[in-house]
Amino acid sequence: MMIHAATDEASSLFGIETSERYEGFYTSVGFHPECMDKLPEDYERILEELYVRASSVHKLVAVGEIGLDYHYEGFDREKQLRVFETQLRFALKRSLPVIVHCREATEDCMKLLCAYRPEGVVHCFSGSAETAEEIVRLGMYIGFTGALAFKNSKKAKRACAAVPIQRLLLETDCPYMAPPPYRGQRCDSSMIEETAKAMAEIKGTSAQEIIEITGENACTLFGIKRNTED
Ligand SMILES: [Zn+2]
Repeated sequence: MMIHAATDEASSLFGIETSERYEGFYTSVGFHPECMDKLPEDYERILEELYVRASSVHKLVAVGEIGLDYHYEGFDREKQLRVFETQLRFALKRSLPVIVHCREATEDCMKLLCAYRPEGVVHCFSGSAETAEEIVRLGMYIGFTGALAFKNSKKAKRACAAVPIQRLLLETDCPYMAPPPYRGQRCDSSMIEETAKAMAEIKGTSAQEIIEITGENACTLFGIKRNTED
């Protein structure tokens, strides 16, 4: 089972088309905060069209990646906030969970999550253990990538330790965040076991157990019925 996280119209369409072809492949639709410069003016209409198109194949499981990213100079904070809020409302109206991207924007992000209380996951988590606990209290999940296995990932490890195992998700953040020994390569799902191993060490269990539990967590959050060993 695999969930594609979209970032713009083209990647949303890619996700929809690929999910039509492969069983076990699911998708989201949404506009990523780093895509604000190229955001079409009529993005709300496009989102609606993507939703209608994706709903017909029953493989649409989330709105995302949506959120805030204040990392790069020259970002438009107001626009990011506006578009994030619009897409949160969109997800709530369609009863879909959200995949939230939050980088260097914890305060603003938490304000909106507290205000809207969506179902969903804060992905590629880079915040503190305290923020992780707050997110869990909101009923959301937290996703960790291969960065969890980096030697210098003390903060991520502390955050992971603070999250109950039933609220953890494994992810690639493809093409980024390849775990060691693949660090620097293009990340893909074949490397997920290394991230599971790092998570297992933190949680005092086996990588297999982590893979099973996080798989169940993803199915619960995204409303996916599993019938095979995928
Ligand atoms: Zn992201």
